[in-house]
Amino acid sequence: MAVQSCATQDLVIERPEGLYCPPGDFYIDPWRPVDRAVITHAHGDHARMGNAHYLASQQSEGVLRSRLGDDINLQTLPYGEVIEHHGVRLSLHPAGHVLGSSEVRLEHDGRVWVASGDYFVCGRGDANNTCVPFEPVRCDCFITESTFGLPIYRWCPQREVFDDINAWWQANAEAGRASLLMGYSFGKAQRILAGVDASIGPIVVHGAIETINRAYRAAGVALPPTLYFNDVTDKGLLKGALVVAPPSVLGSAWVRRFGDPSDAFASGWMQLRGARRRRGVDRGFVLSDHADWPGLQRAIEATGAQRVIVTHGYEAVMVRWLQEQGLQAGAFHTEYDDERHDAQESPVQADTTSAESEEGTE
Ligand SMILES: [Zn+2]
Ligand SMILES: [Zn+2]
Repeated sequence: MAVQSCATQDLVIERPEGLYCPPGDFYIDPWRPVDRAVITHAHGDHARMGNAHYLASQQSEGVLRSRLGDDINLQTLPYGEVIEHHGVRLSLHPAGHVLGSSEVRLEHDGRVWVASGDYFVCGRGDANNTCVPFEPVRCDCFITESTFGLPIYRWCPQREVFDDINAWWQANAEAGRASLLMGYSFGKAQRILAGVDASIGPIVVHGAIETINRAYRAAGVALPPTLYFNDVTDKGLLKGALVVAPPSVLGSAWVRRFGDPSDAFASGWMQLRGARRRRGVDRGFVLSDHADWPGLQRAIEATGAQRVIVTHGYEAVMVRWLQEQGLQAGAFHTEYDDERHDAQESPVQADTTSAESEEGTE
């Protein structure tokens, strides 16, 4: 049958459990428990519980264990090192998204496929200082994410975004108000910490973020000193503090400790007109750990791939654009859900239960 013979030639196919490599007999970021799982990064929709064996980058070990448990059966691989499994040569390459994030390169029978996971491509003079930058990997077929795969998504230089954040924090501090900046606790929060001007005032973090900070610091990522609320003896200091917390805290008792803070949200979705207003916060800063539209295009072009398979995001738009470029393009239906991260981040949908349970981790 045509469909089957095509599938057997492909190095990655869709299965109910997740993206599967038939010759290697393993999965990449499966959404159902499997025997062998290669994990691109430790975000919850890509790294799930219950797999018998995990393979991930060396740099992701700390975050992965802190999220999935110390007892997972995890083999780690330094970036660029090749292992062979059932005749498939596999290596991991930096994706620039969060600490330890990887693209998976597969080579078998003279063909090379690369699965990107989530990735961030630095613009001019930009860098994500909290992880190794994205590395373009040449391949025949590239499996790309498309979280921000619409032409409206074009990130400003990161320096400008941090200048805005610093100016907002400085003005609040001078007015005697705390600055509450909300961002996803793994990845976004550390990027904020690494990018702000820590000389403006003290930085207080939520417990859910400090847990991840520990893994970042252990991996050698430089983050400024951070405080817990309970460790601040002179509560007057909090008036000039930057408070970094997951979005679920909005409206919770945890926030009221800081009086009447100015609140803000950091996310790529802030580029959408009205997104900040819908969330009801004072400020929205456009800061994403995913490639924007030009970044996706640059990354895809740099692979030299003639075939591209699009996953989670704006698949239809990306596929149409790729076909217009003369490439063979299709989509995989996955259960990765970066929008759900955003839903967790959204104060509108935040539920107090999760705010309280995150509070409990402090
Ligand atoms: Zn991710
Ligand atoms: Zn994703």
